Amino acid sequence: MEHPLYVYNTLTRKKEQFVPLNEPHVGMYVCGPTVYGDGHLGHARPAITFDIFYRYLLHLGYKVRYVRNITDVGHLEHDADDGEDKIAKKARLEKLEPMEVVQYYLNRYHKAMDALNVLPPSIEPHASGHIIEQIEYIKKILEAGYAYESEGSVYFDVPKFNKDYNYGKLSGRNVEELLNTTRELDGQSEKHHPADFALWKKAAPEHIMRWPSPWSDGFPGWHLECSTMGTKYLGETFDVHGGGMDLMFPHHECEIAQSVAHSGHDAVRYWMHNNMITINGKKMGKSLGNFITLDEFFNGTHELLEQAYSPMTIRFFILMAHYRGTVDFSNDALKSAEKAYDRMMDGWKRLNDIKAADATTVDLNVADLKAKCYEAMNDDLNTATVIAHLFDACRSINLINDGKAAISQADLDALKDVFKVFLFDILGVRDVAASGDVNLKPYEEAVDLLLQIRKNAKDNKDWATSDLIRNRLVEIGFDVKDTKDGFEWKVK
Ligand code: ZN
Repeated sequence: MEHPLYVYNTLTRKKEQFVPLNEPHVGMYVCGPTVYGDGHLGHARPAITFDIFYRYLLHLGYKVRYVRNITDVGHLEHDADDGEDKIAKKARLEKLEPMEVVQYYLNRYHKAMDALNVLPPSIEPHASGHIIEQIEYIKKILEAGYAYESEGSVYFDVPKFNKDYNYGKLSGRNVEELLNTTRELDGQSEKHHPADFALWKKAAPEHIMRWPSPWSDGFPGWHLECSTMGTKYLGETFDVHGGGMDLMFPHHECEIAQSVAHSGHDAVRYWMHNNMITINGKKMGKSLGNFITLDEFFNGTHELLEQAYSPMTIRFFILMAHYRGTVDFSNDALKSAEKAYDRMMDGWKRLNDIKAADATTVDLNVADLKAKCYEAMNDDLNTATVIAHLFDACRSINLINDGKAAISQADLDALKDVFKVFLFDILGVRDVAASGDVNLKPYEEAVDLLLQIRKNAKDNKDWATSDLIRNRLVEIGFDVKDTKDGFEWKVK
């Protein structure tokens, strides 16, 4: 590939040149939503981080199979108060099928992702749709001798695995310390060792989401779905596995152990992790009262928010930091991100308005700008630097707009292209009104224009044109009504 792209591999702890196994194909797996919380802010960062990587790979010409799972088998962290699974609890309280609960949250999540202009993945597999594959995967780990059955559940044997391989190499956890802990956790006495983790859990009688297996009616362990579905759709070795840093341990560490036990090697070549989000300097958490959903950001309805922040403000704010750095959400920081986004959009609007001159006098080398943007992206997806370069270009655009400098047609076209490619295609920024709604005004005016042409045709007794416009608009989905003064329309 023309552009040498370097990414930080969490496993080796260094930046490595990204060379896919089967160029031009890239297999990428990202852990999807793990908590059903209406699409909260914590979902935004991994989704946007790996959306950038996905978009950039597509831009470079790679054929990417992007898999992002849906965790829906109901083995999520239990509510601290009563220990009941979240999906099951909501299903019971609201007399819903568990899958109705899953779908409800999934629809909201998708809506929030659309608003943030996050591209949908190529495959979005549900854990609940891959129970058979997960059972087969467990059987292989059992055959390899790295798991054991206990009281109808199956656990991964961490001490045994650690003797043969290195458990903890991703997170750098001190394994000896982990293994020597003698603390027995409540209700886990069926485990041989506290560090062992569940591959299959026998379901308690009241547990709603359950499937038959050779060991018991139960459900698979959380870590297992990602190993199983990653391998099913991307192969026993694939290029990228991404997720938030909070998933490194135990989730991804356990995934590596499972893959090694199952296939003899880790499935993943590049492990990539985005850093976390804080709110006013604090970790997000329900108990801290700062657990803000994306809808609450978009509507400004949470008490910590001084105003609504559009999806593009949120996206732009996240991209103004490198994905491995922390991002702190505060009203001040978001307001300045909103201003920055507006400034960038003003620059883009002016770029489209300015007229070319015979020669370029402005101090801006467009080829150089483009090269610097590529260089930033190739340096572990440094979106913050790309944005800084585009702001430099905005300063030149303003000079031209104010008549203090000039730009040639060729440079003007090339500059527009840089904005289109980097700002819109790769950074995935959308040019929308600050409300976050798509600006529908031009479309509305286009429909008005069509109906005005129809009215003129009618006045001229050109019934063919008049009927054509009316019938086509009705077919497309508009309700058109003639009124005393002209016409009215709405979307059916
Ligand atoms: Zn996962």
